[in-house]
Formats: sequence, structure tokens, C-alpha cells
Amino acid sequence: MEAIEAFFPFLSIPARVVITTHQKPDGDAMGSSLAMFHFLSLLGHSCTVVSPTNWAGFLNWMPGCDKVVDFEAKRHSAESAIAMADYVICLDFNTLSRTKSMEPLLLASGAKLILLDHHQQPQEEVFAYGNSNTAKSSTCEMVYDFIMESGHGHLLNEAMAECLYTGVMTDTGSFRFPIVTASVHRMVAHLKDTGLKHHLVHDHIYDNYLENRLRFIGHVLLNRMDVIYELNTVVISIPKADIARYDIQTGDTEGLVNYPLSIQGIKLAAIVIDRDEERKWSFRSKGSFDVNQFARNHFEGGGHRNAAGGRSGDALDTTLKKFYAVIKHYESELG
Ligand code: 5GP
Ligand code: MN
Repeated sequence: MEAIEAFFPFLSIPARVVITTHQKPDGDAMGSSLAMFHFLSLLGHSCTVVSPTNWAGFLNWMPGCDKVVDFEAKRHSAESAIAMADYVICLDFNTLSRTKSMEPLLLASGAKLILLDHHQQPQEEVFAYGNSNTAKSSTCEMVYDFIMESGHGHLLNEAMAECLYTGVMTDTGSFRFPIVTASVHRMVAHLKDTGLKHHLVHDHIYDNYLENRLRFIGHVLLNRMDVIYELNTVVISIPKADIARYDIQTGDTEGLVNYPLSIQGIKLAAIVIDRDEERKWSFRSKGSFDVNQFARNHFEGGGHRNAAGGRSGDALDTTLKKFYAVIKHYESELG
């Protein structure tokens, strides 16, 4: 993988570009993709954003979201966009397996793959150009850097700012995590200069749910949460029946894993949700406990040191038993 700067000269030559991200895109994935879409479109490129799967409804307000092609729903148009692309810009993931069923198409495509991402251990050999930096708060911060450093920073506008702010805000727990630097705040100041109304972004993302989701959270915190004090760990497990009973949709469970960290002394929070095709794990930690490594070692996943995800093909109670068993081995770090 060559440094992203080597790609900048190609920005001046109109091209067919596909922008893609990880399955079940979150705020940072969708925000970085749409900001890149607006930026490259203004530069005269012909761009299509392809998402490997559907996404949470609370992202639908984002400018350009109505044009995003869901690979699973519109396979034909996604496939032809990928087949004709000169470049595929890969945002907020770094191994092609995170694009689910799109992986073989990306590997077979003649397009050059370009990476901007802030996760650990990138699959460098598949990308022609890129920037992989775990010190960055979000992929949106990296797209902002890309826009500014490419020499076309004057194109930054309010639509891009809304998209970029969404990703930085959601990936940093609303600017609270230690990874937020002074330059992130300087970037936000610049986004504000475009006319960005940041309070509306907060409203769209955090105050846009239905009653059932709040009732569901109450139920989960009361009945599905186990606090393991001797390991400063909390685990939440959600059976399929709960998902059905509260009519829980994609995105409704986002952020749930953060609640246990508000309990004094808790260092590790884990949640497992019984999805149709797999049991999906999310992990969050405070301090030095490395959930990226934990997810890689035990739950086929990865992510960042303090936020990671994983999966299991086992039944819910089996994967939960496994969690209780493996967590005991970390007593010296967590206890
Ligand atoms: P979440 O728990 O919010 O789904 O994900 C937390 C972080 O871990 C995100 O940065 C996400 O991209 C990453 N992540 C989630 N699931 C997986 C996974 O199965 N594999 C890898 N490599 N990363 C994941
Ligand atoms: Mn991210």
C-alpha cells in the first residue's frame, strides 16, 4: 500500500468511483462515505456509495443517504458500479471480509482499492493507496484530513460538515474519549464555519427513537445484565424473543453496550445479541484492557483497544458460557 498522498494527483482526472464501508454501517461509516461522496462529486467524479447491508434508520436524514445503494437489496446496480469502477474507496474498515458478500467482487474488480481507516492490523496487500492510523478519532477525521491535504479544502461545505460531524461525534462518545485531540476540536471549529448546526446532528442521531426502544433498554438493564464485580465486568445477553417482543430494528441496540461502563469501577462491558445468522458481540473497555485483542482471540472479531466487536456461530447460551469461561483468565488485568 502506497501512502495516500501518492493518490492525490489522480483526483484531478475524472473517474468512476465506488465508495464503500463495513456491513451495518454506523455513523462514522456512513458519515465518512457520504462526505467523500459529496467531495468527489464536486471534483467532477462519477460516484456511487455502496453499503454491504442495510443501516440504522437514524442515519437516513444524512445528505446523500437516499442515493446509497444497499448491496443486499440492489445487488445488480451495486455489482455493475463495482465492475465499472476505476477506484473503490474503502472507509472505516480494513479487511475485505468486513464487507460481507462483497469481498469476492472487490477482489475480482480491476479497480484500485484506496483505504482510509483507523482500526488495527490492516490487510495492506489489497490496497493500492491508503492511510491507516489508529491514533485518529474516526474515519471522518481522516476524510477531513484527506480533503484538506489534497489541496481542494475550499470545497468543504455544510453537507460534508454534517456528515463528518456525525462520524466524529458517534465514534468519540460525543467527544469524551481520550483519543479526541485539540486538532479534532479545531476541525469541528472549521466545520462550524461552513454553517453546520451541530445540535441538529445530535437530535437526529440521539433523540430520534420510538418509545419501544426506550422500553427495551429498561427491560435489558433490569433483566438481561449481569455484573461480575470480582472481574469489574458486565455482560448483557439479548435473546431473539426480546428483539421480537420490542420490535427492535437495525440500530436500536447501538450504544447499549456503553451503559454498564457508567457503573463505578467497571473496566469491561460486553453485550451479545442473538441475530438470525450469528451471535453478535460488542465489547467496550476503560483503561488498558485491550478488547481488540480479546475479540480477536476469542470471538472472531477486532476493532480498537477500547471498542471492538465479534461474532459466534454458537447458540446464545453456548457463546455466553464461553465468555464466562475465558474472562476468568483475565483476572490479573480486570480484578
Ligand atoms: P460495535 O461494537 O459498535 O459493533 O463495534 C465497535 C468497533 O469494533 C467498531 O470500530 C467496529 O468497526 C469494530 N468491529 C465490530 N465488529 C467487528 C468484527 O466482527 N470484526 C472486526 N475486525 N471489527 C469489528
Ligand atoms: Mn470508525
